[in-house]
Amino acid sequence: FTRPLNDLANQFNMILSAVAGAERVFQIIDVSEEKSDEEQAEAAGTLMGDVEFRDVDFSYEDKQQTLANITFQAERGQTVALVGPTGAGKTTIISLLSRFYDPDQGEILIDGKNIKSITRDSLRNQMGVVLQDATMFYTTIRENIRYGWLEASDKEVEDAAKAAHAHDFITKLPNGYDTWLDSDGGGVSHGQRQLLSIARAMIASPALLILDEATSSIDTVTEMKINDALSRLMKGRTSFVIAHRLNTIRSADLIIVLEEGKIVEKGSHQKLVGQNGFYADLVKTQQAGSGG
Ligand code: ADP
Repeated sequence: FTRPLNDLANQFNMILSAVAGAERVFQIIDVSEEKSDEEQAEAAGTLMGDVEFRDVDFSYEDKQQTLANITFQAERGQTVALVGPTGAGKTTIISLLSRFYDPDQGEILIDGKNIKSITRDSLRNQMGVVLQDATMFYTTIRENIRYGWLEASDKEVEDAAKAAHAHDFITKLPNGYDTWLDSDGGGVSHGQRQLLSIARAMIASPALLILDEATSSIDTVTEMKINDALSRLMKGRTSFVIAHRLNTIRSADLIIVLEEGKIVEKGSHQKLVGQNGFYADLVKTQQAGSGG
């Protein structure tokens, strides 16, 4: 059982490598099933990051409806927290936004344009993904960061690592930026991998960001670094966070609470707490528990 978001991340990495012609990675993941772009589709140009879902319905093949009447608006630079139980449809919303699927009804607009009118590559090139299980390639730290933007110079790689609080730990490794990573970590901790994936996203400088918040425990110092690096990364970009922690959710511009494919509540923390509904209950439960 793999999590859908990991599939999504793999597809994104595949796209990056496809663009780069990095055949080694391209061979691993099969892209043959992807539909071709619409005939009139054009490259996106630089996106500003206004996102709108208008009455979106979606089902996976013959399955029952996965999303129904999804409507919301996020302005450029805002943070949207997607909240709800497993299976509620959070990942599916992200998959539609990235055009791994298209809505059955309704439309998704970016900067006021239906995303069907832009090519998939040009859309995904402007989306960054940071997941709790940061995907790393079997190559050096330097090249792993450079995957975000293949034309980046070594200095740009290091600047991104500095901004992501990764430079210090990298330079302490015996081989520094030339350290090879593999699936076992290569001496790099889970939290440090997340910093690397933030550096990778920084170098890509995407208009849209997709974040999957970590649920696993990471030491406090690294967690503080991750949080700080993430807030730098999110600044000025429209971010969609699959959020688990109350602190993250509370500070979002827009909280979308999903249940069985429907939006049951949406708004700011302040507004939703006042509604005394699902979200208010969630807040009470988290406060009664570990404190979020
Ligand atoms: P969440 O991210 O909130 O946990 P998902 O968007 O992953 O929820 O899933 C919503 C529903 O869609 C679930 O019932 C899930 O089983 C189903 N689903 C998710 N991905 C697929 C897929 N690729 N094919 C068929 N059904 C899927």
